[in-house]
Amino acid sequence: MAVKLRMKLSRQFTVFGSAIFCVVVFSLYLMLDHLQLDHSKNPSNNVGKLQNGQLSILQEKIDHLERLLAENNEIISNIRDSIINLSKSVKDGRGGLEAGNQSRATMPGAVLTPPLVLPVQPEDCQFAARSYSKSAEGVQMLEVYDLLAFDNPDGGVWKQGFDITYEGHEWDQEPLQVFVVPHSHNDPGWLKTFDDYYRDQTQHILNNMVVKLHEDVRRKMLWSEISYFSKWWENIDVQKRDAVRSLIERGQLEIATGGWVMPDEANAHYFGIIDQLLEGHQWLEKNLGVKPRSGWAVDPFGHSPTMAYLLKRAGLSNMLIQRVHYSVKKHFAAQKTLEFFWRQNWDPDSSTDILCHMMPFYSYDIPHTCGPDPKICCQFDFKRLPGGRISCPWRVPPQAITDDNVQERALMLLDQYRKKSQLFRTKVVLAPLGDDFRYTEASEWDQQFQNYQKLFDYMNSHPELHVQARFGTISDFFAALRVTADVDPLTSSSPLLPVVSGDFFTYADRDDHYWSGYFTSRPFYKRLDRLLESYLRAAEILYSFALSSLKKHDRLNDFPSVENYKLLTEARRNMGLFQHHDAIAGTGKDWVVIDYGTRLFHSILNLKHIMVNSAHWLVLKNKGEYSHQPSVPFLQMDDIQPAQDALPRKTVLKLSDISRVLVVYNPTEQERLTVVTVYVNTPQVRVQTAAGHAVTAQVSAVWEEPTQASSEAYQLSFVAHTSPLGLSLYHLSEAPEVRTAPASYTFYQQGGDMSVAGTGQFRVNVLPGDSTTFTIENSFLKIWCSSMSGLMERLQSKEGGVKQEVRLAFVWYGTTSNRDKSGAYLFLPDGEAKEYSPKRPPVIRVTRGAIFSEVTTVFEHVTHSLRLNNIQGVEGQSVEISNTVDIRGEFNREIAMRITSDLNSSDRFFTDLNGYQIQPRRMMAKLPLQANFYPMTTTSYIQDEHLRLTLLTAQSLGVASLKNGQLEVIMDRRLMQDDNRGLGQGVQDNKITANTFRLLLERRSSSDAREQVRPSSFPSLLSHISSMFLNHPVIPMAVGLSYGHLHTAPYRPLRSSLPCDIHLVNLRTIQAGEGPGPSEEAALILHRRGFDCTFASRNTGLLCATTWGKVRRAFLPQIIWEKINVIDSRGRVPRIQEHTWA
Ligand SMILES: [Zn+2]
Repeated sequence: MAVKLRMKLSRQFTVFGSAIFCVVVFSLYLMLDHLQLDHSKNPSNNVGKLQNGQLSILQEKIDHLERLLAENNEIISNIRDSIINLSKSVKDGRGGLEAGNQSRATMPGAVLTPPLVLPVQPEDCQFAARSYSKSAEGVQMLEVYDLLAFDNPDGGVWKQGFDITYEGHEWDQEPLQVFVVPHSHNDPGWLKTFDDYYRDQTQHILNNMVVKLHEDVRRKMLWSEISYFSKWWENIDVQKRDAVRSLIERGQLEIATGGWVMPDEANAHYFGIIDQLLEGHQWLEKNLGVKPRSGWAVDPFGHSPTMAYLLKRAGLSNMLIQRVHYSVKKHFAAQKTLEFFWRQNWDPDSSTDILCHMMPFYSYDIPHTCGPDPKICCQFDFKRLPGGRISCPWRVPPQAITDDNVQERALMLLDQYRKKSQLFRTKVVLAPLGDDFRYTEASEWDQQFQNYQKLFDYMNSHPELHVQARFGTISDFFAALRVTADVDPLTSSSPLLPVVSGDFFTYADRDDHYWSGYFTSRPFYKRLDRLLESYLRAAEILYSFALSSLKKHDRLNDFPSVENYKLLTEARRNMGLFQHHDAIAGTGKDWVVIDYGTRLFHSILNLKHIMVNSAHWLVLKNKGEYSHQPSVPFLQMDDIQPAQDALPRKTVLKLSDISRVLVVYNPTEQERLTVVTVYVNTPQVRVQTAAGHAVTAQVSAVWEEPTQASSEAYQLSFVAHTSPLGLSLYHLSEAPEVRTAPASYTFYQQGGDMSVAGTGQFRVNVLPGDSTTFTIENSFLKIWCSSMSGLMERLQSKEGGVKQEVRLAFVWYGTTSNRDKSGAYLFLPDGEAKEYSPKRPPVIRVTRGAIFSEVTTVFEHVTHSLRLNNIQGVEGQSVEISNTVDIRGEFNREIAMRITSDLNSSDRFFTDLNGYQIQPRRMMAKLPLQANFYPMTTTSYIQDEHLRLTLLTAQSLGVASLKNGQLEVIMDRRLMQDDNRGLGQGVQDNKITANTFRLLLERRSSSDAREQVRPSSFPSLLSHISSMFLNHPVIPMAVGLSYGHLHTAPYRPLRSSLPCDIHLVNLRTIQAGEGPGPSEEAALILHRRGFDCTFASRNTGLLCATTWGKVRRAFLPQIIWEKINVIDSRGRVPRIQEHTWA
């Protein structure tokens, strides 16, 4: 097996050596059990143990492997790099210089200077600089938006469409094939909590399904949410499980998508999307041995190509989407492009193509799925038969099918099917049959399945009708479509179906009702989710390392590995649940929001336990001294979140003249200089490295009120030098220290008689606010702020020299006076925003110190901070902006932060999709204001010929560029009414919410005219790394006071940083085949980021090198073979397989 694989690898490298692929996620399974990851011992002791190190990968889809290799050989080379890094660190036991990678692994405390020039090679730029060529029949969504009038004329019975006609003989040669796909849309939380829905509805649906599908083999059912399915599975007996397995084997039950939930595609970060997909797919593999083939997303409020990409890479071939702007649907219907291959904007060929069906009508309910006329289709929803609980709003009820009416009813339904089929290029038509939480009662199963079977029997027994109608699953439908459309299974292309590139935001379902409100609704929880994701990733990685090290020392039984794995699994599932399209979207009922919040909150606590437990083992110098005592943890986190809806608070570390160890965990794969701030009980602090070198530190006040400093707590800040994925150690003690200096303060307030208290330790200056400006600066940036408002007015990047006007302001939106008003989903503003003008002038507090300088402005509704870190690294390159927003007292108002610059960006701007890729946008005057808002998960920017201004965010929010040079982001919304999308309430549960951003001003060295029409764009390397550092801050943990006697040592799992353009998405320990504990395998998920090379490579502060955009021959598979996984401990030759996670 091994030999065969090796041959394949070599051959693929030869044949596809020039293929380039930049933005790819994929996973491989890395066996960690025998890795040597302990560096506390003399390195020489570790030599020779590497042969135990094993890289092993599940052996499942060798064909798939071959294709992946063909597509992604470059990525594979990068994975080789990283694995070599991992393995070398294992071998050497400590970091060092790696040939070919200029990253240095300097010991903490030594002076570290980033290289002046980052050596970016032309090969690095092949991806981003490539010219875009559209396929002959390609549809580009940006061009569609140019084309459409968005005039919303009345289309008759199909209100948002047009009259559909057909000739009766069209099917004489080839009959119409109708697939009626029964489904039930089960929201994992919306009007009820997940558990309440399960108890009241979902369990009955699934229980009845087993009975009712077995009654007739022709019946089918589709299920997609594994969160519900797995919960039900835990509660059913062996017989029922076997019955389910037989339904799946017979093709009566299909699991579509197979994610934990049907995720929100606007606010969810790709980490979360992948993780919930993995959780669902792993569950399916373990319990049912099933791999989903088709995606099913009928309810997310707009659709992202990131989802298409991830589904494709997860091994799916087909997908269905529903909530797309009605004008786009109408256009696609007229062009017959509703079935297409969805291709990534940045893909030059067809490797990312996935077959996609876009539902043509208003909704996924039965009135809008059988054909264009809802009044007719509603009569074929037999749950609405007279006497039932629901009826047809079009006032014509369904009739039960009898021998007397079957002909008339069948012809009526067939007419709808035929009309629907006119919108497509083949004679295969899809008719979903379901709605929210359908098929709960046995009688409903009978009503739908019996009546439809009679209709099908009639149609199929009349050859003159030229129709074959049946129940089907979504994959049955796609299989027939693929045959009819002559889809080549190898190339995923069809002579009949077009290619579409782009995204489907911002969704409108009718009139000017744009669903851009949910990009921001409940921002407190959008931030909490990002925090959980960051903790989850950090804990996954550290736990995987700890497990392998414990195993090597044969101490696994002393560590709570199973218990912690259960907590990890629970955290994955709570995070997965929150990716649901009514969860992270902020569109659930108040108590459902609390249920989600409580889950996130508990999982954050549990993940902190896992990190503390893992770090405890890893930093202990003498492993013999290890003992796990849950009641007295070895390490404590430096902050506490007091409740699910409260912001975290820093805990105060007690220092004395005996030094206390602070462990700083860097969860990123980059060596990093970063400011660590902890609260301590004394202003007299000495900070030392593990080697005993004193470190420069800044002591600043902890502010209890805007002008009242605490006398019991102080902020201690210093620049930590942390190794990639490593645990660095600093010693803190109470001592007079010349390298620790207090910050100085300047206060401004217009016309106020301010008194500043509690600042005995600090130099304080109080000045009147006036029309002058003041500045703060570091070695890269200088900011000018108004001494009246405290807000930024100009920004200078010292590298370029020129001062740019960059004005920051806050603005209010109200809601329209029309009947339909803004709510959780919709944004319906009362025109342009109005400037925020506070009743009282703000208190402005300027901090200046050796480590950072900061301007904090305290307004009534926002506490706004601008900070510059004095770091010679990445985190010195951008302005950190944090806003603590409180609009709990407002009435129908939304608050936004607006940045107005003198960049000539025209109507162009750029937003990310799911943190994964950039989508170019155009502000369109023909659309209402609210239609010009887009989701921002991590990034948005504007640019002109010379400059790019990037706003990076640590939480998903709605963003727009409404005027030349502007970027604005909605920060919170308080809305007093429902917006008629079923929620039945407004958004009035606002919290005190923290929003964090980074603002990056970059000089561009070149730009060209093609850029204006190119459908793709890429962040700079600096922007990528800045975003990662913003989203994954270092995690400080202090050694408990009772453990001061134990010796610790830094932990450095990687020999050097990963290449700058490779992101370690996750290192995720896989669940054991039996039981709830961990296996000996972990999934390593890597992402190669495409980046724009037209930015200065001087003085970036980056400590990594790039991959030169091509296969590095030095890392051919033989090397891995020879150096990493020679044989495992049992003498077997390990197998390697790269594959997707399905
Ligand atoms: Zn839903």
